[in-house]
Amino acid sequence: MFKIINECKKARIGLLEVNGKKIETPFFMPVNTKMSPKLISIKDVHNIGYKAVICNSFVLYLDPGVEFIKKHGGMHKFMNFNDFIFTDSGGFQMIMNFENKRSDKGVQFINPVNGDKHFVTPESAVKFQNDLGADCLMCLDDLPKHGANKKEVIESLKRTHLWAERCKKDHDGKGLLFGIIQGSIFPDLRKESAKFMDSLDFDGISIGGLCIGEKKEKMFEMTKICVDNVSRNRPLYLMGVGSPEDILKTVDLGVDIFDSRFPAQIARHESLFTKKGRINIDNKKFKNDFNPIQEDCKCEACKHFSKAYLYHLVKIKEPLSQRLMTLHNLQFIQDLMENIRTSIKENRFEEFKNEFFKNYKT
Ligand SMILES: [Zn+2]
Repeated sequence: MFKIINECKKARIGLLEVNGKKIETPFFMPVNTKMSPKLISIKDVHNIGYKAVICNSFVLYLDPGVEFIKKHGGMHKFMNFNDFIFTDSGGFQMIMNFENKRSDKGVQFINPVNGDKHFVTPESAVKFQNDLGADCLMCLDDLPKHGANKKEVIESLKRTHLWAERCKKDHDGKGLLFGIIQGSIFPDLRKESAKFMDSLDFDGISIGGLCIGEKKEKMFEMTKICVDNVSRNRPLYLMGVGSPEDILKTVDLGVDIFDSRFPAQIARHESLFTKKGRINIDNKKFKNDFNPIQEDCKCEACKHFSKAYLYHLVKIKEPLSQRLMTLHNLQFIQDLMENIRTSIKENRFEEFKNEFFKNYKT
């Protein structure tokens, strides 16, 4: 199911297989929470070259409902996407605006739309994801809020581990099940959680609870602890990381899979990736710049239009500008992943990384 093809120190290229699908790691997944990326279609995502997206099973359970999607052939058929679909289980919603009560048994969510209460258990979280047809499923985890004290994190970590065991015991679907390492920003708890998840024989391991407000150095420190305390025969997925510089630095630490709203989110605020760093297209200096955002980019925006034209679209608040900018940032990340994979295959990841940072201003 996961085979390592080549390694450059800790960075590695692998092949992940499930349900007749294959994907090379390291890869990035655009966020597709409600089975639709924002402003672009799932066909655009496919055309850019992405072979994996992540949906949220709890959000889909609320609307349009797991039974409904199952009845219509599962997520792949319903949204017409035949590649990898990862699903998150709802842990992240615990720190969002879904008020909740947690106990060892499970978590009670309140639907922010209509106030309905829903009780999710580790077992039901696995069942939803299986019924939706997910290729890679996440265990239900108890995600502590950013800034939780150590006592609170210890408490929630106990529950995350208890739930992981129950998810593992209950999982008999066709998808791969990932356990999620938590432990906030406490090195000893991260280490304990990594060792615990490693002992449960999951198909993959996720690093959760980072990129939620902690300092960047903490994110790297915790990621390194997690990588160093699991066996290296499974894919390692760092949840919520999606800037070019963070992806490169954590591939270097040994991470295989990424997802994040970041590239699409900043595109909607006119911030675009280039090989020299990020630019803000609404800056006056682009009014007369008739070059594309990035010379060698094959996205629709760069192939057909200039920065001056995009600047114009932004100034007249044309919705098309947001679509074009989203396509560009997602293409940039996809191309970056492809270049990372090629450089690992050719044993020159270190050179590629150094060259990237020589040009890229953060
Ligand atoms: Zn482009």
